[in-house]
Amino acid sequence: MRYWMYFTITVLLLGGCTAGSQVGSQAQTSQSNRERLYDDVRMLSETFAQRNTNHRGVLNDAGTWVGDRLASMGYVVNLEQVNKQKPERGFNVIAELRGTTRPEEIVLIGAHYDAEIDTPGADDNASGVAAMLELARRFADAPMDRTVRWVGFTNEENSNSKGGVMGSFAHAREAKNRNESIVAMMSLEMLGFYDETPGSQQYPFDQSMAARLGMDLPDTGDFIGVVGRFEDRRLIDAISASMRASERANVVDAALPAMVRAIWRSDHGNFWLAGYNAVMITDTSEFRTPHYHMPSDTIETLDFERMEGVVDALEVAIRDLATLSPDE
Ligand SMILES: [Zn+2]
Repeated sequence: MRYWMYFTITVLLLGGCTAGSQVGSQAQTSQSNRERLYDDVRMLSETFAQRNTNHRGVLNDAGTWVGDRLASMGYVVNLEQVNKQKPERGFNVIAELRGTTRPEEIVLIGAHYDAEIDTPGADDNASGVAAMLELARRFADAPMDRTVRWVGFTNEENSNSKGGVMGSFAHAREAKNRNESIVAMMSLEMLGFYDETPGSQQYPFDQSMAARLGMDLPDTGDFIGVVGRFEDRRLIDAISASMRASERANVVDAALPAMVRAIWRSDHGNFWLAGYNAVMITDTSEFRTPHYHMPSDTIETLDFERMEGVVDALEVAIRDLATLSPDE
């Protein structure tokens, strides 16, 4: 998650936000799934703790490791240089599950594998990468109607994108140049921090105004957010409906005016700039966690039970997005 580059103005035509279903009801929890998430977060946040542009070798090693994990699942992995003239600027890691009936239509799931300087980034964003890897594993042997593309992005954080480009900017630009039909983009951006204390959840806009507009936003930070612009409303609705149907995650969705700057602060923003619909899946970053961009963003602060639920819910959402409905 990038930090604030602009002071947020808040506008208050906020879209509907609704709280969703219960966590954990009929779920089949698998200890091994949760352990895999834990192991992957530990690898990124401890072994590759310094995955930033002050330690380019570590950052690239982290990317190589993400690629190796995808390759071990049977994917063909491609590395995409963010700047072809300057390979030292780093690379994205890409794997695809090619669609069977509509391969030209792409559902893109991305997570940035870099971390802000001097923070281990367990939540930001080892959690998102671990979730992406677990999802990629679950889909690896079963192609869907549409193509599912997994991307580990580099250089998302402000400190790492200085003097270069964000990995997601490069990917979105190239996709647009190739005229690719990305029908949905999902940025997995901080999925692991939850707080059941009343009052633990803040927002980048005025709550009383939200209330006047009939929005009922929880003040307890125990949910996963599905966030986008007004223009992404249909995609937000589809993803949150699928996630709720899984009964594995407490989902709050929000379609907000594009001028709320806080909603741009991850890789999906570059897909918006390229003309695609995209959403961010997030624990809401510093509006909930006190460890945002701090050395204390460690694995011990994360809730792996809830994270596993979010992964289960996302699996349903991706499956639904990548499957043609009968009328399509
Ligand atoms: Zn960040």
